[in-house]
Amino acid sequence: MIKINRQRLIENFIALVKTNSTSGNEKDISNFLKSNLENLGGKVTFDSYGNLLSFFEGKGETIILNCHLDTVHPGENIRTIQKGDRLFSDGKTILGADAKAGLAIILEILNLRKEKKINCPPLQIILTKEEESGLIGARNLDFSLVKGKYGLVFDGDFGPDNITIYAPGYYFFECSVLGKAAHAGMEPEKGVSAILGAAKLINKIPFGRIDSETTQNIGIIQGGDGTNIISNKVIFKGEIRGRNKTKLLKQIKKLKFIIEKFLSENKNIKVKLNGQIIFDPYAFSLKNKFLKKIQLAYEPIGLKPKFLPSGGGTDANIFNNKGFNLFPIGFGAYNTHTTSEYLILSEMEKTLIFCINLLKIKRR
Ligand SMILES: [Zn+2]
Repeated sequence: MIKINRQRLIENFIALVKTNSTSGNEKDISNFLKSNLENLGGKVTFDSYGNLLSFFEGKGETIILNCHLDTVHPGENIRTIQKGDRLFSDGKTILGADAKAGLAIILEILNLRKEKKINCPPLQIILTKEEESGLIGARNLDFSLVKGKYGLVFDGDFGPDNITIYAPGYYFFECSVLGKAAHAGMEPEKGVSAILGAAKLINKIPFGRIDSETTQNIGIIQGGDGTNIISNKVIFKGEIRGRNKTKLLKQIKKLKFIIEKFLSENKNIKVKLNGQIIFDPYAFSLKNKFLKKIQLAYEPIGLKPKFLPSGGGTDANIFNNKGFNLFPIGFGAYNTHTTSEYLILSEMEKTLIFCINLLKIKRR
């Protein structure tokens, strides 16, 4: 088994974490990675949206290594604290292991490739902006620059044995409920309460787990100006997720039908629905040829891969709906998107070793 440079892996991770990179502010981290990738022998280009693409020559079929550049809030001036095999933030910010542990792994793959002259297939590193704000970078990626068809996505929670083979599509919606304002004490008869209207409407909308593949939620509600005013506007926002596109579309249709029925029964209230499918679901069978290689690459590290569904979206949703075969892999990040996020260093190392194994199998 290959001997990795644990210290360099951790040092690179900490340097990445110390570089601020909240969504929309990826300039510093892009520059940091550009110079590192160029030093490692890669050609670096940015597409017109600012996503970073870097190509490393090799023999055979190109493998894509994808990760996102941005991190969530609170994610500035992060301080790392090591306790044994784990890295934490100081509790005031996230750690940023999502997905900077992935970026550190990619850099270490390229370091080992160069240092140990590993005969890798061609590698294309694709690092996207604003993934955390709804896969915006990937949605705007210039796909004419993408060379490979198969690859890995370094993103999210879980350990190195976790490979995502299906993930839900995601529909976002915002509903504006419009009533009529009036003084609540002097002339309540003249008002139409948007709050009451929204309450009645929300009561008809399904919540939670709809079936084994579909979930629905309303997570934000805003409205009202004072207890003495009959409110004229309420906005609520929600989502529907579905791993089955047909069922997802059916659930969206159902939402629209509920709103139409509500409007026909409440003529004095207006409702405006703004909704959009942000990304589509994907699913792979275990017969996928790249999954077979993935399985083989796990053998030397004594892990059995868990091919699992995910409840969230990653850049893989965008790629895979364009015909690519990209599989998100875990790397030891847990409690992501919270100030108690942590990284298990030995798990990050295992993902790195797995990747090296995978790149070697490609060559056989
Ligand atoms: Zn992420």
